[in-house]
Amino acid sequence: MAVADNDASHAGQAAPDLLIAGAGVAGLWLAVKAARAGLSVMLVERGNPGGGASGGFLGALMPHSPERWNGKKDFQFRALIDLEGEIARLESETGEYCAYRRVGRILPLTTERGRITATERIAEARTNWGEQFGYEVHHTPARGDWPNIVRAPHGIVHETLSARVSPPGLLAALLHSLALMQNVDLRLGTSVVDINPQEKIASLSDGSRIGFGHAALANGVDAFPLIAKLTGLPAHSMGGGVKGQAALLDAKAAPDLPLVYDDGVYVIAHENGHVAVGSTSENEFDEPVGTDDRLEEIVKQARRLCPLIKEASVIRRWAGVRPRAVGRDPMLGPIPGAPGVLAMAGGFKISFGIAHRMADCLVAEITGEAGPETPQSFSVAYHMAKAARAQVLQ
Ligand SMILES: Cc1cc2nc3c(=O)[nH]c(=O)nc-3n(C[C@H](O)[C@H](O)[C@H](O)COP(=O)(O)OP(=O)(O)OC[C@H]3O[C@@H](n4cnc5c(N)ncnc54)[C@H](O)[C@@H]3O)c2cc1C
Repeated sequence: MAVADNDASHAGQAAPDLLIAGAGVAGLWLAVKAARAGLSVMLVERGNPGGGASGGFLGALMPHSPERWNGKKDFQFRALIDLEGEIARLESETGEYCAYRRVGRILPLTTERGRITATERIAEARTNWGEQFGYEVHHTPARGDWPNIVRAPHGIVHETLSARVSPPGLLAALLHSLALMQNVDLRLGTSVVDINPQEKIASLSDGSRIGFGHAALANGVDAFPLIAKLTGLPAHSMGGGVKGQAALLDAKAAPDLPLVYDDGVYVIAHENGHVAVGSTSENEFDEPVGTDDRLEEIVKQARRLCPLIKEASVIRRWAGVRPRAVGRDPMLGPIPGAPGVLAMAGGFKISFGIAHRMADCLVAEITGEAGPETPQSFSVAYHMAKAARAQVLQ
């Protein structure tokens, strides 16, 4: 892997098969998958890898609920199954450790209605998840402090499909994998400022102009204005950001504890005994990366939910802005009217579980080889229709 400095002149350089904007979990997986497929890759990152929403520490890999099955749920389900093997491969290729474990998840049931709904979902889970993963309703959790038995007056759901990973561990492994490949050129500290699909040229903030075979916009929340520009829609029509705040606690927790999720609060024990707690969901914010009282409230709720962390000290606070596309599902695939330019954005709250599969879809699009099917609701055209409808309603 070549790492170029900012002022390098790129005149006369061969155009990469694939130019990627953004080195978050999406762009990094895409670079790894494309390079493995033999494509020459240039990965352009404004700051440092993981400098955006991927730079946190939660790493929850949770499925959508098993009822009303659709293309999105199926895509995510298959991605969650494959991720275990994908991570094992990365770890063996690089020697990095991603602290992945399929620990399952507990959902406390706080109402009788919730318990009835959960019981109805058992059969749906068996149909759609198969026999391999459990979805059970129990009267009480296995232990009284994870979650607090008082917070689960109507019992709990315990499912065994969910997993967790260390986000910094995974990013390090992806970067290490890129470093082992000759066909990857990593440009840090440089932004993609414009894409000209007709000439197949990307303009970078260091003044260079890079030709490309394909370009992929995997630059998180900042992908939306670029995609909107390419489609001729208003800058803010294709998606935006939802801020989230999270905290890391030194809890010396057992690494096999299941995730606990209740009413927007996640509690996640990691392999090193740290427990990650999150997250706020803020549609409006002035400070994209600052933490405040809203996080302290989440930490309080998490301590009530899981008394095991009641006294644990907070060792890190963090905030990031999740990319959410206008149609709410991820935005993936060719951008209409911009030949050769692909979107890989809008993973919102589930990118760590699906980015590797999204990358497979785009690599298949470029190489013409077989790949996973992209759900229709992920297509840029689908999101454009949503954006157009939203404009009309305004
Ligand atoms: C508090 C919080 C908790 C979360 N918890 C989870 C979780 O448990 N599980 C989960 O799956 N997801 C979780 N998410 C969501 C997840 O983090 C995001 O969906 C994911 O990080 C998005 O990845 P990305 O690569 O698309 O974007 P990003 O990680 O934002 O990466 C985009 C990159 O592009 C770069 N960039 C921007 N503009 C340009 C440009 N013009 N040129 C070049 N580079 C550019 C940025 O610097 C950045 O590095 C959480 C998010 C938050 C905020």
